[in-house]
Amino acid sequence: MRSKDPVKRVIMLTLGWEDLPKSWSIYDTDPLVRIVEPVPALLVETVDGWVLIDTGFNKALIEDIALRRRFHGDFYEIRPILPAYDKDPLLDALDRFGLGVDDLLCVAVSHLHNDHAGGLRHFGASGTPVYIQKRELEFGMFDSVRAEGHGFCRVDFDDPKLNWKLIDGDAEIAPGIGAVLTAGHTPGHQSFVVTGSQDRDEQGYVFAFDAGDLVENFDSELAIGGYIDVEPNDTLEPIRRLKSIAAEHGYKLIPGHDPRVWPTELERRYREIL
Ligand SMILES: [Zn+2]
Repeated sequence: MRSKDPVKRVIMLTLGWEDLPKSWSIYDTDPLVRIVEPVPALLVETVDGWVLIDTGFNKALIEDIALRRRFHGDFYEIRPILPAYDKDPLLDALDRFGLGVDDLLCVAVSHLHNDHAGGLRHFGASGTPVYIQKRELEFGMFDSVRAEGHGFCRVDFDDPKLNWKLIDGDAEIAPGIGAVLTAGHTPGHQSFVVTGSQDRDEQGYVFAFDAGDLVENFDSELAIGGYIDVEPNDTLEPIRRLKSIAAEHGYKLIPGHDPRVWPTELERRYREIL
């Protein structure tokens, strides 16, 4: 019997890490407490093809001395960490599944922070559709000085060859994959809902990304520490909305940067969950 499932596989990827004050993830935490958080991305195989969600750091901005000083020199005490080998983390992850940058149905980014948008440079030449919330791209492009002060690197996404697909609110971006506007962390941050498998009776997933970094953001409803143009407590609204979507469908809610949730180096930085 032919499968009716729109989503065939879901693979969680860790493309690097960042060593940062925990107060970025949990508002009003002791700023001296530090945490090493994974840099997340997703590969989802749908009936129409593979979808990549988020793209990790721009390796060049970390490894080149001048670019690192320019873009990461004094970035809120956040230290970027790449995997300990010379390959590009995103290209390596795609390669593990037999994919190149030209093989994807589409790409989506949760938001334009440098730890999520740094791999977009691979998709200017390929012409792959890139889904983003309209207000996120507008903030990054038209308010770029202020955006850089909040961790956007315009060089990551200001490419006239990128094939942007602008979303304004909630939308389906591929079979079985829905984008949900969860603004607050950034002006056009989006999270993603991925359907499960009816054939195998497996649940779906709600991927919060930076609407909530850690399990405790959701379990204890704690405001996030990184936000733009809202008050810290306003970030609880998207947290509660994602919880209610997960509860309504019986889906598992995955926070964006929790080291206990995303694949570890020992797991070779990827884990198939569906
Ligand atoms: Zn972020």
